[in-house]
Amino acid sequence: KRAPQVERAAQSRLVVLAGPTAVGKGTVSTYIRENYPDVLLSVSATTRAPRPGEVDGVSYYFIDDAEFDRMIDEGEFLEWAVVHNKSRYGTPRGPIDAALASGRSVLLEIDIQGARLVKAAMPEATLVFLLPPTWEELVRRLIGRGTETLEEQERRLTTARVELAAQDEFDHRVVNRDVQAAAAEVVELMQIQKAIDLRG
Ligand code: 5GP
Repeated sequence: KRAPQVERAAQSRLVVLAGPTAVGKGTVSTYIRENYPDVLLSVSATTRAPRPGEVDGVSYYFIDDAEFDRMIDEGEFLEWAVVHNKSRYGTPRGPIDAALASGRSVLLEIDIQGARLVKAAMPEATLVFLLPPTWEELVRRLIGRGTETLEEQERRLTTARVELAAQDEFDHRVVNRDVQAAAAEVVELMQIQKAIDLRG
């Protein structure tokens, strides 16, 4: 009776999905959260303000600087970083440890410096780099999103150019032509196919 549980525990994995801004990391990870319930999608904490439509505790935990400082002091982050020279973002450690211990795979959607920090803290983590089909498509997606000011868009494109150069450090590369296909590729890398089959 205990065998299947052991089998699932052996398959649990920490997968980090990173890539340049506006490549569609958020869309791909939301698709995975909604369609692959066996995967825990880690919710980061951030000091930036919510965008319209973002929900506290789902998109991020929106916290202030004092609370972010407290979490650093208490060792509650697996990693944290300042992104785009502005706000702070961090990955809470507790839910990840608990999920992995219970045999669930965990997906982290963070930036590239965060991916490096996670790999340093947990070498068994699998790093996946999400690529745009082309540079022009990345620019189109960033502008089309319409949520950033022009100045912010420029800053993010500069960052994206640098970020694309980091892809060789990653264990796997997935091109985001189509959300469903990209999500399926990422999930395959998490080796949860068997758990899905068991659910029927
Ligand atoms: P946004 O403000 O557009 O939601 O996210 C900005 C950047 O922060 C994205 O590249 C996103 O991947 C990254 N990010 C989100 N959560 C975390 C985190 O917990 N740690 C790190 N290092 N980066 C994060």
